[in-house]
This record gives sequence, C-alpha cells and structure tokens, in this order.
Amino acid sequence: MSIVDQVLKTNKRYSGEFALAGLAMPPVLKLAVVACMDARLTVEEILGIKTGDAHIIRNAGGIVSEDALRSLIISHHLLGTEEFIIINHTDCGMLTFRDEGLRQKLERSTGTATVAPCHFFAFDDLRKNVRTQIKKVKSHPWIPDTVPVRGFIYDVNTGRLKEVK
Ligand SMILES: [Zn+2]
Repeated sequence: MSIVDQVLKTNKRYSGEFALAGLAMPPVLKLAVVACMDARLTVEEILGIKTGDAHIIRNAGGIVSEDALRSLIISHHLLGTEEFIIINHTDCGMLTFRDEGLRQKLERSTGTATVAPCHFFAFDDLRKNVRTQIKKVKSHPWIPDTVPVRGFIYDVNTGRLKEVK
C-alpha cells in the first residue's frame, strides 16, 4: 500500500470519530506562527496548542516569503491574530546548501533554467536568519507596530525553544 493510501485509511478512522465540528474560523489564541517545514517540528506539540488555536504557516526554512507575508496580512486583518512567532530550528536543511549551487545543480540535471522560484533563501547563520525574518514582518507597511513579532530557534535534540533577541 502506498503511503497516501495508508494515510487515507487513517483519515477514514479519524473522520469516523471527528469531534472538532463547529470551530470558529478566527484562531482562538489570536496567534500566527511561521515555521520551517522540517518533519521533526510539530508546531502544535512544541507550543502546546490545539486545532483552532493558531494559524501555522510553514515553508522550507521558516522564511517570511512573499507568500508568508500574504498569509500574515490576511491572518491579522481578516482573522484577528495579534501576535506573530517565527520558528527556525537547529540542523535545518537550509544550512546545507547555497542558492546558486542548487540552481546550477538543477539546471545541469534537468537541462533547463527557470525563472521561478527566483530564491531558495538558503542561509548559513540561524540567528541572523531569524532576525532577518522578524525584520521583514516588522517593516511591512500593512502590518501594524502593535503586532509583536518574536523569533525562536527550536532545538531538534532537546525540544527547547530559545528566543532570538
Ligand atoms: Zn528547517
């Protein structure tokens, strides 16, 4: 059985005992999180939150990309979130390559250049990367200064979050 068939089977059981009907659309905790997509990071577990509590926006690296900004703006202005968190983590795959190297490798192996994505946003310094993401949110004219934006590094070997000041 393929993994997809397997998870669909699990979902059948899940929906059979579904108990979350009727949740309101706006996140209960008025919280939005931008986090890396890393499989070792389960944002809900790390933060002790549950379905309905927060918006969780994930991508490779926990990058405040144009699309993450789009989601944060909708999250705040249309769905009432009032605090933002950015989560990067130790041993991130984004520390293991450079944009240009990956681009060249893909162009060589596929025989094709492409205009998108124009950046992979690989980085070599976790703390610096978190600070850059915070700055990208804070400097956006459509995100008011009243929204606190805090950044953290999650340690995949201890489960601890460490704030980046
Ligand atoms: Zn990562």
